[in-house]
Amino acid sequence: MNAQTPDAPAPFGLRPAPSASRLRDPRPGVSGLTPADLDAWAAARGLPGYRARQVSDAVWRGRQAGFAEIRTLPGSVRDALEASFRFDTVAETEVRRTDGGLTEKALHRLSDGLLVESVLMHYPARDGARERHTLCISSQAGCAVGCPFCATGELGMERDLETAEILDQVRAAQRRLAADGSRLTNVVFMGMGEPLLNLDRVLEAVAALNDPGRLGLGARHITLSTSGVVPGIRRLTELGPQFTLAVSLHAARNPLRDVLVPLNRRWPVEEVVAAAREHARATGRRVTYELTMISGVNDTDADADALAELLRGDLAHVNLIPMNPVAHTPWTGSPLPAVERFADRVRAAGLAVTIRFNRGTEIGAACGQLAAEQAGRPTPAVVRRRRERLVAQSAAALRGERSGEPAPPAPGVEGLA
Ligand code: SF4
Repeated sequence: MNAQTPDAPAPFGLRPAPSASRLRDPRPGVSGLTPADLDAWAAARGLPGYRARQVSDAVWRGRQAGFAEIRTLPGSVRDALEASFRFDTVAETEVRRTDGGLTEKALHRLSDGLLVESVLMHYPARDGARERHTLCISSQAGCAVGCPFCATGELGMERDLETAEILDQVRAAQRRLAADGSRLTNVVFMGMGEPLLNLDRVLEAVAALNDPGRLGLGARHITLSTSGVVPGIRRLTELGPQFTLAVSLHAARNPLRDVLVPLNRRWPVEEVVAAAREHARATGRRVTYELTMISGVNDTDADADALAELLRGDLAHVNLIPMNPVAHTPWTGSPLPAVERFADRVRAAGLAVTIRFNRGTEIGAACGQLAAEQAGRPTPAVVRRRRERLVAQSAAALRGERSGEPAPPAPGVEGLA
């Protein structure tokens, strides 16, 4: 993906607002309200209970673009809704399509000008399997974890998304699908941000996705992904089998994982896998481990053997995904023969392994790539220094040396422990 210079015209016509003007609309998004919240709102205005249900139906099933279009409601109720809530918190969505229309990347502007992304992937019916429409959504604007192969990590952390800002990415995709007579079948929290560092709001969003009165998506069709926030995994385990847990592992050896997932310096890989293993045991649900495959960095025989050893005997599934090209890294995705060789070594330990292929590389479908592009690219000197540092760090990691750098700050962790 060609990054934009700060002065070049933005291809989407969307740019983040200058931070000085980042004033948020104080009205909550209506999709973030629970049915009980809406009932209470209606009751406080002396409205009959069915008015709340009419609002909820319009929000989750209707084609309306705003409260003013909900014609089943009296004008006074529409005005009251407009004064109290936002109908949509991710207005100005722009969509790029690629892969023959099978991948759609959406860039959403929030009320304070920040940009977040979602990616809708269509899987046609094949070999007896029904067609699927999977949406990958963001839970934060930016991310504090700072994985060096990730464009979102490059942006740094802006803020947690509100519950409605998470859900309105889903509503935007659902509206596009409904126009074609389809509906969403899966939602994965694998976009911008670390979902377990915004866990309260993510869980509220999961409840809405799961609720038959709202989106009505089965628990098996919702996946929460984490880079390894151990207290968050434990909290999910206490909740029981409400979704699939995916762990972005990327490396099984601590020296390398310290580089690829800086949060590893706070929760080392053994602790992460132990928490995920307990989750699988307690819920009976298989955990998915994701590895972004980087040529010559984490795709070696030694890495495959370390992974097989770490997960041997676990209720686990391994997904291998060649890295999307990201401008600021010195790395490239692993070639297919290297990924296949890695997969074979891990399979030999009795683990299920799937090789997945990148969708939408030419539209910047890697997490955070478009938002980073809109934010302007770093100077060549900054990119060069960053690349040199990553090369030195990964070379040291391959020699088995740990960096000793402190873990990155992880806002939100304190409330989880
Ligand atoms: S890969 Fe995920 S956890 Fe890592 S920086 Fe990107 S968004 Fe954050």
